[in-house]
Amino acid sequence: MDDVVVVGGGIIGTSTAYFLSKEGRKVRVIERDPAYKKASFPLSLGGFRRQFFQKENINLGKFALEFISNISKTLKTKNNPNPTASMVPNGYLLLFGSEHAEEQYEALKNHKACDAGTKNIPANKLKEIFSWINPNGLETATYTDSKIEGWIDPHMFHNALKNKAIELGAIFEKGDVKKISDIKAKTIVSAAGCWTKELLDDIPVLPQKHTVFRIKCPKHYPEMPLTGDLPSGVYWRPEGKEYLAGSPNSKFNCPDLEPEWDDFEKLVWPALANRVPEFEQLKLTGGWAGYYDCNTLDNNAIVGKHPKYENVFMATGFTGRGLMQAPGIGRGLTELITTGKYQTIDLSCFDLDRIFAKKKRTEPYVL
Ligand SMILES: Cc1cc2nc3c(=O)[nH]c(=O)nc-3n(C[C@H](O)[C@H](O)[C@H](O)COP(=O)(O)OP(=O)(O)OC[C@H]3O[C@@H](n4cnc5c(N)ncnc54)[C@H](O)[C@@H]3O)c2cc1C
Repeated sequence: MDDVVVVGGGIIGTSTAYFLSKEGRKVRVIERDPAYKKASFPLSLGGFRRQFFQKENINLGKFALEFISNISKTLKTKNNPNPTASMVPNGYLLLFGSEHAEEQYEALKNHKACDAGTKNIPANKLKEIFSWINPNGLETATYTDSKIEGWIDPHMFHNALKNKAIELGAIFEKGDVKKISDIKAKTIVSAAGCWTKELLDDIPVLPQKHTVFRIKCPKHYPEMPLTGDLPSGVYWRPEGKEYLAGSPNSKFNCPDLEPEWDDFEKLVWPALANRVPEFEQLKLTGGWAGYYDCNTLDNNAIVGKHPKYENVFMATGFTGRGLMQAPGIGRGLTELITTGKYQTIDLSCFDLDRIFAKKKRTEPYVL
């Protein structure tokens, strides 16, 4: 019998394998597509932030920065002597109209309590800091400018975690787990992302297709933060000499990952040109789509022991935040498995009892 089997070698499974291996557990990770063609993490925007409403999500975002900042030391291996996640710490800028402002003022109290280091600014002062912005229709904004938020290269981050987990003894193998009961192990971790329901059919997580467009604009602002325009739901950030922009539209029941190209002209370009007038001149150069692991109950993580099994733990439902939460979730699950309770960030608010009791713990908006 195996010690630990992790189903799914994406970012959550690999982070968990790394932390468990560090604690001396013998981990086997089973991944059905080691090329990760449809997995969520390589198709993500790589963003990490601490600007959330709930304290647990703020603290997970803070730990992401701490963890990513140290990987050149902590994830160094013989095969990968200079691990990097290519961090770009441009910060986040979140823009709110009157419909979201009150909620954000409440969120700011939690930012303060968690010492998140975020700044709040009324919309009429925005142009003093972000010269490119049209503040019409906005009430307030929250941002960071001290290199504590930004984005990473998800592939490089995953690779660094995987290399280190393997050096610590974890085994990664190809396999398609059909039923959780097919696995014989002391501890099983389900980290199957948006496909979790195939293994655990009582978990309300579904693949939700999101499209990202690649665009080019004569005017380039390499220092631009990852900007989320809440009134339109569109978000964007620089990528090399271009920009990436996410559509606010999402879809369930999409077996293919063809981007929703029509969204560009209908939703994304008008919103971009409205908020950054220079984007009127942009040109579409590409795009892709990927699945969010959408928790259809409350858009929030589902983490912990499955109460119907003796030995099954799980983490899914991150709904657009799984990359940045992976370090904190891997560490937290390892604490729960090896000591019986959380030792650092208390993640019990994400447990499965709330799911089965249908007690929503909604994180206000999804980007
Ligand atoms: C367009 C887009 C933008 C995003 N932007 C961000 C962002 O900026 N920041 C952020 O933090 N997050 C972002 N996300 C979300 C993030 O990518 C996901 O939340 C995260 O990747 C979830 O990690 P995971 O390991 O649970 O799932 P995945 O990365 O999907 O990995 C799950 C793995 O499990 C495997 N698997 C599933 N079932 C089985 C089985 N039965 N047997 C064997 N293997 C199995 C799959 O093949 C897959 O490789 C974005 C996602 C998308 C699509």
